[in-house]
Amino acid sequence: MREIDRKRILVTGGAGFVGSHLCERLLGQGHDILCVDNFFTGAKGNVAHLIGNPRFELMRHDVTFPLYVEVDEIYNLACPASPVHYQHDPVQTTKTSVHGAINMLGLAKRVKAKILQASTSEVYGDPKVHPQPESYWGHVNPIGIRSCYDEGKRCAETLFFDYYRQHQLRIKVARIFNTYGPRMHPADGRVVSNFIVQALRGEPLTVYGEGGQTRSFCYVSDLVDGLIRLMNSGDDFTGPVNLGNPGEFTILELAKKAIAATGSNSKIEYRPLPADDPTQRQPVIDMAREKLGWEPTISLDQGLPPTVAYFRALLEV
Ligand code: NAD
Ligand code: UDP
Repeated sequence: MREIDRKRILVTGGAGFVGSHLCERLLGQGHDILCVDNFFTGAKGNVAHLIGNPRFELMRHDVTFPLYVEVDEIYNLACPASPVHYQHDPVQTTKTSVHGAINMLGLAKRVKAKILQASTSEVYGDPKVHPQPESYWGHVNPIGIRSCYDEGKRCAETLFFDYYRQHQLRIKVARIFNTYGPRMHPADGRVVSNFIVQALRGEPLTVYGEGGQTRSFCYVSDLVDGLIRLMNSGDDFTGPVNLGNPGEFTILELAKKAIAATGSNSKIEYRPLPADDPTQRQPVIDMAREKLGWEPTISLDQGLPPTVAYFRALLEV
């Protein structure tokens, strides 16, 4: 890479599931990476293979506190993403989204960096419009057990657009739909990792409710490609833009696929549906197709085997 094209890139939450894949890809492109994480849900092990590369630096830091570094681009991913983890300390979750956004936007303003926010399909709440286009304002409970995450992310979007209007910051907002793949935490409670781990251990798969609720699952390499395309898009394009795979499945269908992909004899067990659990979720990705030339390339059937292989090796089963 020519020196002039090499960027200094900060990835917050870089030791997490998505962040570690993003650091790896950006490093592979020849950039200098500063990975910042407080290791709440992420782990050094996720980026251990990058340590030692002279263009990679790992820093323990909590984004709810200010950060003084010199960078050209910021990918702001720091925030627990699984309901079990973000509900563990909901006040800290809101602080991470809101104070974290304020700190990273302040940093971007000071050093004139371009900044991307990892927002979420949760800003649509339990959607009454299906599938969800970016123009939908959502249907979100402001006082429920998911609100620390949903409202925190919504407030972060507000801050991004206010910094854009008030300070002319170069911003990018991605609304990420359910993403899965290697390096998900085996105990973080998200549905793909839960089902695969349960199936590999021969334990019952825990389907919440009747399993008729739907999600659309994106493989992590497709998401990382979309995030980088968004960051590299023209300054006039801010998003918010949906990044997700439109392939929609019921949770019961996913459970059956996980059993098939692992060759397990596990049975399905039904558990109570958690409060405010969205009944349906599927992205409209016309904007990503048009503005970023992006669409997912890996179906759920293609993405499950490498994910199963990762967990099989991790659990040694
Ligand atoms: P993850 O939990 O694996 O990663 C989040 C990372 O942020 C972890 O490494 C964690 O230690 C770190 N972190 C949390 N609080 C922090 C703080 N205060 N300071 C510094 N670091 C902190 O989750 P993920 O799936 O990799 O998600 C990454 C981002 O993408 C999150 O912002 C999440 O909201 C967003 N997102 C993910 C999905 C998905 O399905 N994976 C969907 C929508 C949005
Ligand atoms: N779910 C489930 N069993 C599990 C974990 C999750 O049936 O062991 C369901 C959950 O109720 C939700 C869907 O799977 O309807 C996706 O849950 P996840 O926590 O992965 O993410 P969400 O999209 O709800 O944030």
